[in-house]
Amino acid sequence: MKSFLSLLIPALLIAPVLTSSAVIASETGGHAKWSYSGATGPSHWGDLSPEFGLCKQGKNQSPIDISTAIDAKLPPVKFDYAMLVPENIVNTGHSIQVNVRSGGSIKVNDDEFFLKQFHFHSPSENMIDHVSYPLEAHFVHANEKGDLAVVAVLYQPGAMDNLALNALIKHLPMKTGDSNRLSATDTQLFERKKSVKNYFNYNGSLTTPPCTEGVRWLVMQSRPGLSERQLLAFQKALKQPNNRRVQPLNARIVTK
Ligand SMILES: [Zn+2]
Repeated sequence: MKSFLSLLIPALLIAPVLTSSAVIASETGGHAKWSYSGATGPSHWGDLSPEFGLCKQGKNQSPIDISTAIDAKLPPVKFDYAMLVPENIVNTGHSIQVNVRSGGSIKVNDDEFFLKQFHFHSPSENMIDHVSYPLEAHFVHANEKGDLAVVAVLYQPGAMDNLALNALIKHLPMKTGDSNRLSATDTQLFERKKSVKNYFNYNGSLTTPPCTEGVRWLVMQSRPGLSERQLLAFQKALKQPNNRRVQPLNARIVTK
């Protein structure tokens, strides 16, 4: 796959593409064994490997509790997921992740980021005004330089099924390492061409080892609903909570 891709990608782009895919792959694995509980849980991540140092020493870590946001005239996030083609849905043991084969991008100002994968955390990782939500999706994008932009969508409890999530729930892999193929119709309800102005913006990190910083976080203010049944389906596949606790804001400013 990699060598096939490198034939297609102009030489100039190879380094940044590999850099970002290495970072993205580490969201799903990494080298040292880490988990969400016990001796390899979040409070020990920084000690598990020298590569994970930022988990302990970083000053711009994610997630955060968004409680004060400065009004700024943020440019809209322009979504274009119309051509999104997913590859599969995988139970990584850390998350439920949809890998993207092609299509799917966002534009902020003139900076374009391409969707690589999206995955779920339950309960939410980011909090808003000290409130945690039952489910959070992270849409992980990279631009051509390899910079990452994560779009976070927090789901709130609702009476009705969320139709976009239903298509994924039908294919949920229940055991670690399991994966199921997806087709474009399974993600078509995520497909959207829209411009979103209401979001929080902050500078953060990956929320999993190696906790790499320099990640642009775009946390959507609108919170879609999901039903209790759907939440239980995700939780059953995840087996345990997979949220890292909120991290100190330090010198950062959240804008909206
Ligand atoms: Zn995540």
